[in-house]
Amino acid sequence: MQLLVAPAALLARPPTSAFPVGAIGLGMSGRVYVGVNLEFPNLPLQHSVHAEQFLVSNAAACGERGLTRITVNAAPCGHCRQFLAELVTAESTEIVYKGKCYHLDDILVDKFCPSDLIEPGTAPLLLEQQHNAVCLAKHFSPSPGSSISQEAVAAAVNAAVNSYAPYSRCPAGLALVTNSGRVYGGGVIESCAYNPTLNPMQSAYIAFAAAGEADFAQVCGAILVELRGAAVSHEASMRTALRCIAPGAEVVTLPLQLKPQQQ
Ligand SMILES: [Zn+2]
Repeated sequence: MQLLVAPAALLARPPTSAFPVGAIGLGMSGRVYVGVNLEFPNLPLQHSVHAEQFLVSNAAACGERGLTRITVNAAPCGHCRQFLAELVTAESTEIVYKGKCYHLDDILVDKFCPSDLIEPGTAPLLLEQQHNAVCLAKHFSPSPGSSISQEAVAAAVNAAVNSYAPYSRCPAGLALVTNSGRVYGGGVIESCAYNPTLNPMQSAYIAFAAAGEADFAQVCGAILVELRGAAVSHEASMRTALRCIAPGAEVVTLPLQLKPQQQ
């Protein structure tokens, strides 16, 4: 893993900071995941993605159920230490940087953690199977010529079903569509400290970058699905990001509802 960190950092896209970060994670399945930092010129800094967040989102999208070890080429920032507190393996994941191995409790003393906001055992933690029982609130038929395909809608809904929203209880998913018809979905990954939360747009562009895509000008459409009347909405943030990174993209928001048997 140590040997993979430096090559991973070469894949980072930090045009603002010029500080490339690479993170390598070993899953409980034995699979290895990569994460890099992403920055977006002209957008507020909170749209940036940290390498450790990229890694965890990437692992979650692959159905990984826990991380044994994370190796990083720089000390994790406070934001990432807080984000990692969501992991189901937060107590056991080894975090390696600068030649030393730590546990989260060593580097985030007296941490604020999920159990401060929710009763332990009442909601799955991050990387555990999520089961948000949501579906589209109304049927969607793409208009002729629309870039938003049924496949994209399904990817966004699937991302919402698997999203991690134990605090707001507002699952949300987003799918990006490229000119070549490829679809990249991502769901919200909340933090108990709120601000380190990855919004669905960030998770979707992590999936986009993880697949080797580089040019956001290739994004021609985006669909966001979120609960109707929810306390939290990601629409304004998504539109802000897309106006900057893919200004010509078609943007659609569809409402979700709880599945009828859950109401
Ligand atoms: Zn960080």
